[in-house]
Amino acid sequence: MGARFSHVSSPITVPVSWTVGQEGEKMSKPYQELKTYMDKAMAIKTAMTLFEWDNETLAPKEAGELTSQVIGVLSGEYFEAVTCDGMKKLLKECREQGGLTEAEAANVRELSEELEQTICIPQEEYQEFARLTARATSVWARAKKDQDFEAFAPTLEKVIGFQKKFAGYRAKDGKKTYDIMLDDYEKGFSMENLDEFFGLLKKELVPFLKKVMEEGKKIEDGFLKGDYPEEKQEELARFLAGYVGFDFDCGVMAVSAHPFTTNLHNKDVRITTHYTDSVDSSLFSVIHEAGHGIYELGIRDDLTLTPAGQGASMGMHESQSRFFENIIGRNRAFWVPIYKKVQEMFPGQLGQVDLDRFVEAINKVTPGLIRTEADELTYSMHIMVRYALEKQLIAGTLSTKELPAAWNALYREYLGVDVPDDTRGVLQDSHWSGGMFGYFPSYSIGSAYASQIYAAMEKELAVPTLVEKGELAPI
Ligand code: ZN
Repeated sequence: MGARFSHVSSPITVPVSWTVGQEGEKMSKPYQELKTYMDKAMAIKTAMTLFEWDNETLAPKEAGELTSQVIGVLSGEYFEAVTCDGMKKLLKECREQGGLTEAEAANVRELSEELEQTICIPQEEYQEFARLTARATSVWARAKKDQDFEAFAPTLEKVIGFQKKFAGYRAKDGKKTYDIMLDDYEKGFSMENLDEFFGLLKKELVPFLKKVMEEGKKIEDGFLKGDYPEEKQEELARFLAGYVGFDFDCGVMAVSAHPFTTNLHNKDVRITTHYTDSVDSSLFSVIHEAGHGIYELGIRDDLTLTPAGQGASMGMHESQSRFFENIIGRNRAFWVPIYKKVQEMFPGQLGQVDLDRFVEAINKVTPGLIRTEADELTYSMHIMVRYALEKQLIAGTLSTKELPAAWNALYREYLGVDVPDDTRGVLQDSHWSGGMFGYFPSYSIGSAYASQIYAAMEKELAVPTLVEKGELAPI
């Protein structure tokens, strides 16, 4: 969803996990004591992360209600572990005493922030919100299946209410509510920066898309859709994940409604995909999630399981996945060494399709309804719709009742498509059910970072040549 979307999504803030420390290394006394507290919070957090993973992959559909009670209890334990007097005292001592290594100092800084962001929320409300979002995912999934936004609206309203209240508790220096939420995913970003960023994208992309649609070459991509058996798609997904560098000794792949990545630590990174009758859907999902996965697998052993060993931000995380998906994966050079193998997996479907036709088809621009299946050009327009709506929902100028109509109107305006039902409209993403307001802009920020990374990389590496030779490791 990427990491999810979530890449380790947390109900309240962006993920923080904690150091297990390195035995035998010199640590200051308070830091050494702090480690015990970190370990406990880390263990609880890991348990909750595993439940999240399980909820979206293997848990039976009736599990939600009772599991949400378990999550509620665990989140209370987590709250206490992070905000207890011992944690407060030791963090203060570590800050005052100094003499920490760079990584230790970073951990103290991150933990102090987590403490500050958590302790301002009343514990009962914190736990209630955790129970709510654990349940909300299944309410959303059912509503999506039944094309029934009404069934989800009351839950969504509660989630928004909590998020606004929590942001209010955290507000400092008159900061706007939605800016506080944005800051959770991309530190330092605000509506001011993003309005400018998306304003520029909109100004350039909307007319460009119109031009492409009117004057562009007509591309035949019908062969990507049809009878692509699931087990063959899975074989391809596993091959591609491994090919780009995802290590199956330290990672697993499962199926979920919405592809995402979860990481427990650098020896346990989990990606998901989904299979539809369009082979390119799983294909690019898996390259995308493998990108997230590789980022997490690449964290150094001495930093994993510490706050300093997390992805720098959601935008940076998305830059890694979108780099692999779009910049590498949609490039002709990527398919040169492997397309023959892909044809052998699908002789009936792709045997007669040459490489150039295949590459054209996977790069075809089509304004569509579904974000996760959008091409590179139209993708950010899906994000702009969500960004515009989130701003209004949080400011209170749009009610949940009015949301589907507002969604449909923006899809018409930005993408020129009519939304036939809420399943393919406002109910398509799970982010809001998890309370993740402020997450969506990370995707577009990630695309921008990915382009900048590529521009810098090209100065040092002959990227297309390496990709064409199948040498992805240096990249
Ligand atoms: Zn992603």
